[in-house]
Amino acid sequence: MNPGNVDPGLRFWLRYVDDRGGLTEPAGDSTLVMLPESVAAQFDLPDELVVTAEPDIARDDGVVLLATGHPVLVQAADATLSDGDVGVMGLATPSGPAPGSAFLEERVRDQFPVEHGKIEVSGLPTRIVRPVLRLGALATYTVSAEETYQERLECWVDAGSGLRLAPDVVARLQAAPRADAPAAPGAPVLDAVAGALDTAHGILDDAAQRRRTALSGQASDAHRRERAHARDYYADVLRSLERRRAGAEVDRAELLAARAQSTKEERTRRLLEIDEKYQARHEIRPYRLHAMLVPGWRVPVDVQRGPRRYPLTVDWLAPLGAFAQERCPHCGSTATLSASKTRLGCTVCLPAAVSA
Ligand SMILES: [Zn+2]
Repeated sequence: MNPGNVDPGLRFWLRYVDDRGGLTEPAGDSTLVMLPESVAAQFDLPDELVVTAEPDIARDDGVVLLATGHPVLVQAADATLSDGDVGVMGLATPSGPAPGSAFLEERVRDQFPVEHGKIEVSGLPTRIVRPVLRLGALATYTVSAEETYQERLECWVDAGSGLRLAPDVVARLQAAPRADAPAAPGAPVLDAVAGALDTAHGILDDAAQRRRTALSGQASDAHRRERAHARDYYADVLRSLERRRAGAEVDRAELLAARAQSTKEERTRRLLEIDEKYQARHEIRPYRLHAMLVPGWRVPVDVQRGPRRYPLTVDWLAPLGAFAQERCPHCGSTATLSASKTRLGCTVCLPAAVSA
């Protein structure tokens, strides 16, 4: 069975069970599950059962239908959220000295090209830790009055820049050796973490928004059909009223005109009701926040343009062997840096004509 096709609610529950020491074994369209005693008791389920999200399969004896919306899945989600998986971990600090200035200068020029300027290392590196955040959330999508879906979302964000980390960077950080006992994070680290939380939440919310749009596209056919049906119905009623009014005496015609008016109002209400029923919504509930402290060196550099110098700092991240990505100090864009005669910016905030 392709795990991608499993009902998202069931997939979430199977992962929950796996994380708590259960065994799950896919078998065709169903899954054999063995639960540790505590988990079986938590859900009031037998310790061995076959589950499926396919109603047809669940008609077989002894197969339990566990699809999105089932109370057992909701209970697992609540337990995950209230467990609140929050923590700080540190990566092992490299024991050697900082890389040499010539090496750092070469690398900083590679990684941060500057239009109309040149970067030069201007001082000695100092040890730092740069926090990155891993945020996990449970998204619940309500696509129509009858359909809801749940899935887990995750993102990694560099707290220093608020930029999302690429999957290969995340993979390298996860594989890097951990510190035995990470030092308690200092105030600047905690500030950076707090500052990046909104960004991380925003990234997950955007992802949920896109997913919701895709899911509600599937429901929109039914929405269109129901709307068209209601419109046809009211059009018929109004045509009939109009026909009768045209051939009626004055008193009766007024009565029929009033009925046509109230029918139009009823049509407006009914169409709003239908739109409301198919109004897609989503909610995200964070359940995981990990701060990972990445050791490295802060390197002071100058961007030079002719006689002018614009000071900056860049962070060399030891486990990645690269500098952390930075934003334009003027506008926050990630575009290529650019030095004008009056300030440092990037190709977005310094038009070519001005910076030249
Ligand atoms: Zn800029």
